[in-house]
Amino acid sequence: MNEDIYDIAIIGGGLAGMSLACLLGDSGLSVACIDQADPEQQIKTDGRTTAVSYGSRKILEEAGIWDDLDQQACPIDDIRILDGASPVLLNFLSTEAEDKSFGWIADNSAIRKALLKRIQSLKTIDHLAPQKISDFAREDDHVKCLFQEGEAIKARLVIGADGRGSFTREWMGVRTREWNYRQRAVICAVEHEHPHDNMAVEHFWPSGPFAILPMADDDKGIHRSSVVFTEHGKKKDSLMRLDNTEFEVELASRFPKEYGTVRMINERMCFPLSLIHAAEYIAPRMALVADAAHGIHPIAGQGLNLGFRDVKALADLVRGAHECGEDIGSDELLQTYQRQRRFDNMSMVAVTDGLVRLFSNNIPPVRFIRRAGLKAVSKFPPAKRFFMKQAMGDR
Ligand SMILES: Cc1cc2nc3c(=O)[nH]c(=O)nc-3n(C[C@H](O)[C@H](O)[C@H](O)COP(=O)(O)OP(=O)(O)OC[C@H]3O[C@@H](n4cnc5c(N)ncnc54)[C@H](O)[C@@H]3O)c2cc1C
Repeated sequence: MNEDIYDIAIIGGGLAGMSLACLLGDSGLSVACIDQADPEQQIKTDGRTTAVSYGSRKILEEAGIWDDLDQQACPIDDIRILDGASPVLLNFLSTEAEDKSFGWIADNSAIRKALLKRIQSLKTIDHLAPQKISDFAREDDHVKCLFQEGEAIKARLVIGADGRGSFTREWMGVRTREWNYRQRAVICAVEHEHPHDNMAVEHFWPSGPFAILPMADDDKGIHRSSVVFTEHGKKKDSLMRLDNTEFEVELASRFPKEYGTVRMINERMCFPLSLIHAAEYIAPRMALVADAAHGIHPIAGQGLNLGFRDVKALADLVRGAHECGEDIGSDELLQTYQRQRRFDNMSMVAVTDGLVRLFSNNIPPVRFIRRAGLKAVSKFPPAKRFFMKQAMGDR
């Protein structure tokens, strides 16, 4: 551990925290990235996939990890939206969007692996994991970060990237707005007989939205997709209660026929779904990024994409201040960061929350409005282009 003062301490080495460390990697700033979990273990156990938008891909290129992901990430070139038993309601094709893919589906474990490899190659970053932060002490020109085991480090700027239940946010005394959707996401990866042709499907069933996200074929050429069931209702009726054979019957009943036979290839995982948004992202010499600042419903696959935009904005400000010989933890810099990111995040929190309410609801008038809205978008090219641009996160 470095006895001297670090320029930056990142609390939480999840996907956001590690990306931030990589973005700061060659800036000349000394960085400590601290996580309570063992990173190799996290690579083994994170069975999720992330829809990486076009804008996020550019950030990951800048972080120096996209080359490692390019072969494993599957482009999304076709998005189909279906509602109940009705035919396809809305179809977005990348050929209608300057031939740019809408995004890429990447395994979280592959993103983590690429980030870890990059961090280990950067001399200015100390990756301190597993190490849990259990307290802070703030002075005028630095913050002391205390480890549960008793040691401590100091940093001029502390960045909380410690997820929804952020200890950093709690210590900063920041209020949050939050609610529970009383929904769960049940996810797993599957293999299927026929190729998916880079198509993503979002199908709204009375029991909740069901998404199929295309993954790259494995090294034996097996076609794969990742699935997300959003379910509400009682836990005793959850898909998690089914045995594998019963679960595969549920999968088969929801997959379009073009995929052929479908089989699970990893364990199901379940995530309770809620919304949380911090009233402030900053305090003297401290800032929050990604899920520590805002956690949203995965319906539009935008949670981490917002987090990547936070880390890019903060990294640019910090690098700029360092290059001009200014204080990287100044109030002015932190205020600018908050101004830059709050509106974008608040807009996505509101849009996602609206989508959850519109698409998780099966009462006839809401269903009617939803179908009419989707049909209208499909027939009005400017509206369609607007939604395609949002999905790409290209700004
Ligand atoms: C089912 C599902 C599907 C999703 N799909 C998408 C998608 O397609 N696209 C998308 O953009 N987003 C998606 N998301 C959202 C995305 O997964 C999250 O936004 C993202 O993982 C948040 O990353 P993070 O690094 O901010 O937080 P986390 O991943 O929660 O990482 C926080 C880290 O902090 C560490 N930590 C916590 N407390 C301490 C402490 N006191 N000391 C040290 N370390 C600590 C933890 O160990 C952890 O590693 C999805 C979410 C779910 C649940």
